[in-house]
Amino acid sequence: MSDNARVVVKDVVASQNGVGTTDGEKLAESLAKVLQVTEQTDITAAKWLKETNSDPELSILRPAIIDGKEKEVPLNYKLLKDEISIDMGLVFVSGKLAVPKSLKEWVIQAAHGDHLAPQKMEKLTELVYWPGKSKDLKEKARSCLTCVQAGKNLHTMLPTTEKIN
Ligand SMILES: [Zn+2]
Repeated sequence: MSDNARVVVKDVVASQNGVGTTDGEKLAESLAKVLQVTEQTDITAAKWLKETNSDPELSILRPAIIDGKEKEVPLNYKLLKDEISIDMGLVFVSGKLAVPKSLKEWVIQAAHGDHLAPQKMEKLTELVYWPGKSKDLKEKARSCLTCVQAGKNLHTMLPTTEKIN
């Protein structure tokens, strides 16, 4: 992991107080794992905040939670509304950092890194959240050309009845 990435992790974690120390450490660890598999280092806490501010859902969700206006909570977050907290402008869902849509692809790409399977991608991203995450991670592994060519997702690509044992 590059020094730059370390700074990013420290930075992001420093931006979220209110989540207990243990959670903070877990979050740092999780982001570190995500960041160490990518060379991209222009994702900073400031950028995360900026993208959260301009995200079509999170920018509506944040004031709705702060002001307690349940009706304004976007549909994707309605069921989770009691699990949402805001720290230093960043949105947390059950203590997991909410990923703005604009950064989602980057996180998925970073998590897939060395062509990891969906379960491993889940583990790497266990402390970040976005609606439909599991589906997106599976889809990434399923549609990755390198994985397809390596036959990694043979099972998932065949109809159930034709699975090779
Ligand atoms: Zn792959």
